[in-house]
Amino acid sequence: MSAKGDMFYAWTNVSDIKGECGGAVTSILKYLLESKTVDAVLTVQKGADVFDAEPVVITDPADLVKSAGSLHCGTLLLPKLIKKYLNGAKDMKLAVTCKGCDAKAMYELAKRQQINLDNIVMIGLNCGGSVSPVLARKMITEKYGIDPNDVVKEEIDKGQFIVMTKDGQHKGIKIDELEEEGLGRRKNCQRCETKIPRQTDIVCGNWGVIGEKAGKATFVEICSDKGAMIFDGAVKAGVLATSAPEEKGLEIRDKIENVMIKMGKKNQETQFAAIGEGTDRLKYIMAETGRCIKCYGCIENCPICYCVECSTKKPHLVRPGQVPPDFMFQMIRFAHIADSCVNCGQCTDICPQNIPNSLFMHAQQVELEKMFGHKPGMDMELPVLAFAEEIDERARLNATGSDMIYENVFGEEK
Ligand code: FAD
Ligand code: SF4
Ligand code: SF4
Ligand code: SF4
Repeated sequence: MSAKGDMFYAWTNVSDIKGECGGAVTSILKYLLESKTVDAVLTVQKGADVFDAEPVVITDPADLVKSAGSLHCGTLLLPKLIKKYLNGAKDMKLAVTCKGCDAKAMYELAKRQQINLDNIVMIGLNCGGSVSPVLARKMITEKYGIDPNDVVKEEIDKGQFIVMTKDGQHKGIKIDELEEEGLGRRKNCQRCETKIPRQTDIVCGNWGVIGEKAGKATFVEICSDKGAMIFDGAVKAGVLATSAPEEKGLEIRDKIENVMIKMGKKNQETQFAAIGEGTDRLKYIMAETGRCIKCYGCIENCPICYCVECSTKKPHLVRPGQVPPDFMFQMIRFAHIADSCVNCGQCTDICPQNIPNSLFMHAQQVELEKMFGHKPGMDMELPVLAFAEEIDERARLNATGSDMIYENVFGEEK
């Protein structure tokens, strides 16, 4: 019997599952469907090519083999799709593969009662980062000297982004080198600190698998009681084989996670410094967002935006028919989202005007976290603003003339 916190090497016993490492994720998903623990699996599979990651809902366990493997150019975020197209999993049980940003978005949507986490099994994936498919094509053409249409597989291994072509060419370039030239992982991934998403039920990766099992087993960490039950069920059903992880493997995994978190923090510092501070930062953001064409893409894709009546569409706040919109359009988003932004990068990826929305929002989230201590996406804790009752606040404002509603950092009420 396994329990929360246990760790394993695990690999599939099913011959047609060709996983990224041990195929443990696909085997667990197979067990979940076959045992009818879930009605469907929501995951990502290869579309036209390796740059085309498409979301897929699978109900027939036989179809799972097509979804095995990792798509590092898969920058999709699955939770908002559950809200939009699967009625928030309110009337079906779902298993979902979750990178760190997916896992964090799940919690933020669940807090807002937009999805039902009780009906969702989260199978976490360790994540070193993903590459924008548009940038990947450009990078492979210009930097690798390879036609991206010839690429049949890509992987991230030992700090390199490696591509393999249909005629057997194999070329890797160090991610550090790519990122120094503005290529490589998405900018939000460079800033990301969620490398092993333990908010999920079971988290899987390749870090820490060493020795004869290297490349052939998945490193599994059990993160919840539900995860333990599912893992035991999959082993009992015979789809998974397991062994204890090597001591040295545990150390290596720990070390890599810590190094990656440090790199994320360092990249935050560098990227946030580049947009200035205080009024300079405001001016910079105003200039950059001055290109906005009000397409609403950032709003549609953001897992935190869910209001039926969006304030950006209220004529007394943002004048209709005007492009670029009043800066109030951006201010509304900053005010509504910044405390809960999970740095998923969707608002930057989608922006037709190349506005680094996610950088601006993440920079503010980090400041708010310093002030109020709220870290979004980690658990079901509500953001500080959720405790502010508008009617009470208006009464207090009228009575005191002060709009400071929180205790300040020195612990005094202002
Ligand atoms: P499989 O049985 O092959 O199943 C993989 C599952 O992941 C499939 O269900 C597939 O649909 C789903 N999937 C594939 N791409 C995506 C995607 N983009 N978003 C959501 N789901 C997806 N592990 C590490 O230890 N270190 C890393 O640095 C690391 N970086 C990763 C970066 C990305 C973008 C992704 C997607 C995964 C990363 N992983 C990393 C996890 C690793 O690649 C394997 O997914 C994991 O070890 C499970 O292996 P498996 O053989 O059991 O999975
Ligand atoms: Fe992975 Fe973090 Fe990038 Fe999401 S934001 S894809 S978890 S590195
Ligand atoms: Fe993701 Fe952007 Fe929304 Fe933040 S503001 S959660 S980065 S879409
Ligand atoms: Fe403006 Fe870009 Fe958002 Fe569209 S996606 S509304 S252009 S900031």
